[in-house]
Amino acid sequence: MSRFASNLINCLSPYVPGEQPKGKSFIKLNTNENPYFTSIAAVKRVEGNLLYNLNRYSDPESLELTKTIADYYGVGEENVLVTNGSDEALAFAFFAYGGCGVCFPDVTYGFYGVIANLFGCNVKQIPLKEDFTVDINEFFKAERTVVLANPNAQTGIELGKDNIEKIISSNLHNIVILDQAYADFGSYNAIELTKKYDNLIVVNTFSKSRSLAGARVGYVIANGNLIADLKKVKNSFHPYNVNSVSAALAAEAIRDDGYFKVSLNKIKNTRRYLTKKLEETGFYVLPSAANFILAKHQAIEGEELYLKLKENGVLVRHFTDERIKNFVRITVGTDEEIEVLLKKITEILKENAK
Ligand SMILES: *Cc1c(COP(=O)(O)O)cnc(C)c1O
Repeated sequence: MSRFASNLINCLSPYVPGEQPKGKSFIKLNTNENPYFTSIAAVKRVEGNLLYNLNRYSDPESLELTKTIADYYGVGEENVLVTNGSDEALAFAFFAYGGCGVCFPDVTYGFYGVIANLFGCNVKQIPLKEDFTVDINEFFKAERTVVLANPNAQTGIELGKDNIEKIISSNLHNIVILDQAYADFGSYNAIELTKKYDNLIVVNTFSKSRSLAGARVGYVIANGNLIADLKKVKNSFHPYNVNSVSAALAAEAIRDDGYFKVSLNKIKNTRRYLTKKLEETGFYVLPSAANFILAKHQAIEGEELYLKLKENGVLVRHFTDERIKNFVRITVGTDEEIEVLLKKITEILKENAK
């Protein structure tokens, strides 16, 4: 900390991302990236002229990408705002609507607490039930901005349409931010509800299901008036928020729908296989609708399993939060990666039992 740091800076508690290891090659199952490569059609497109036009600013409206997203989901252009990763979308939404306070589950995406702290939003954490499902009654008439990831981060557990809609319709006097980072891996997408509810902000990302984590592209879908508010925030902060290469990659990734669906299916199949194998090995696995699973084994602590796997060249994620500290979070990788993981786990458990 410098001697110039303000009190505000001293009070920040920044997000700690999962490791992005350099050097030694790991099987990387720790940050919920897609194990399958970005759409080749998307890469081919930017390899062409685009890279020779970087002397020009990107389109501040990201119009081509905005239109592509709007057409794909059957909403209007005025209902879409493209952002620099969905973390930026979350920041805009917290800035715009966090003044009345925010609430979110005690186990969820750690970034919500970080942004709330940055913008000075009052935070109310609502505990998940014993079985790690969202206690929907506790979110009714919240009288503050509701923030929910669906499927939920860290647990992977999904709320269905009925429960989502109950939460939105019981909060008509405040905003509901629904973070759909993992929705493509689940069974319900709430974008349709943005046509019915003018208090709903759906936040989405290209980072997970569309294999573009490094490109940093996210988007909001909401009622036009909400998008106008968020645009105002964006243009007061970073008018050229999405670079031209990333915007083109993202638009092309949406057009390459066949590739998208094939990779989604592979991940869902591998998730099913991984869950079954871990259960056979004695793990307790939460029912995941995302591209990761949260699992624990009574014979080994979460942290120890994480460290042993790391020694063996496999990176998973461990959280120190009380409620999930006995678990590890494993991103669904390729079948080959998951076979190595399972083999290492079996060896570690055998060694541990001696
Ligand atoms: C990964 C993740 C994000 C962030 O995505 P970016 O678009 O890469 O910024 C947002 N919310 C949740 C729940 C996530 O897991």
